Amino acid sequence: MKYLYTFLFLGLISIAFINCSNEKSEIKSDTPKEIPFAIVIHGGAGTIKKEFISPEKEKEITNKLQEAIDAGYAVLNSGGASLDAVQAAINVMENSPLFNAGKGAVFNSDGKNEMDASIMDGKTLNAGAVAGVQNIKNPVNVARLVMDSIHHVLLSGKGAETFAKKYNVQFEEDAYFYNERRWNSLMKVKEKNGETIPVKNARDLSTNYVDDHKYGTVGAVAIDKSGNIAAATSTGGMTNKKFNRIGDSPIIGAGTYANNATCGISSTGTGEYFIRTLAAHETSTLIQYKDYSLKNALHEVIFNQIEPLGGDGGMIGLDKNGVVAWDFNTEGMYRGYKRSTGENVVKLYHE
Ligand code: ASP
Repeated sequence: MKYLYTFLFLGLISIAFINCSNEKSEIKSDTPKEIPFAIVIHGGAGTIKKEFISPEKEKEITNKLQEAIDAGYAVLNSGGASLDAVQAAINVMENSPLFNAGKGAVFNSDGKNEMDASIMDGKTLNAGAVAGVQNIKNPVNVARLVMDSIHHVLLSGKGAETFAKKYNVQFEEDAYFYNERRWNSLMKVKEKNGETIPVKNARDLSTNYVDDHKYGTVGAVAIDKSGNIAAATSTGGMTNKKFNRIGDSPIIGAGTYANNATCGISSTGTGEYFIRTLAAHETSTLIQYKDYSLKNALHEVIFNQIEPLGGDGGMIGLDKNGVVAWDFNTEGMYRGYKRSTGENVVKLYHE
């Protein structure tokens, strides 16, 4: 009898417990689901291997990536727009000689720093970009002005510089952009190859076109508290580039794309292949029409579209639910993200 009472008692307790947990889960599902705000950045892909980078350099790069993430995250955290967040993150990297953008831009075949940048608003699908601009401290800021101030999307060369001057954008002397390491890379490439080496395949570029086969372009994608996605990219292009060559970074749909319905993307790598596959837009399209996850869409575009053509590089992105993803077919990619859920990651190598 004593056992029967104990049995009944335990039974009653477990029924109460089950009810209680049901109640809890009901309460949970009634609460509106909050989309985490987040920012993801890259500082370029390429032959980035631990054995090629000193511990001091590794620390310097990691700290700068974190500084860029924090700058963008602070904007989001205070309720700011994703467009302002990506711009803030990119400005940090453009102001550093560590990356191939702004101050650290590579030299073209004339020994000039010719830069490209773009930005896109996933809410309105509005976009702005500049290509082949010189002496502008923060090209992504001019891309933003193009988007916000005029109905054109892409301005190039002298015209873009005249436009920037009208808006009192900061210009810098050539000396600001001079970087001995970049200059030596240009000399090395020129010495080795002269001016006429045709580029056939990205795999050949490590020896005849690009220093260390490191791209160094910078990019950022963010989703804010309102669920708006923005993406932006800024670059000096490729060392020894010729004939006013323009890469993928200022091409909406190739180097940059944002759409609140799907995702935001920023690319880095041999731009020609990202243009030919419209890599960033293609990723969005796979999500929109084929129901791919962001992770699978990135993998599909890089490994089944870009790589078979001979291209290499990587992409970062986040989707409309604030899920962050990246992929690359190079040895490494400078990258990192921070989400309002508390995750904060910075990585350089293939892991
Ligand atoms: N995608 C850039 C370009 O082709 C290069 C890079 O990613 O560093 O101009």
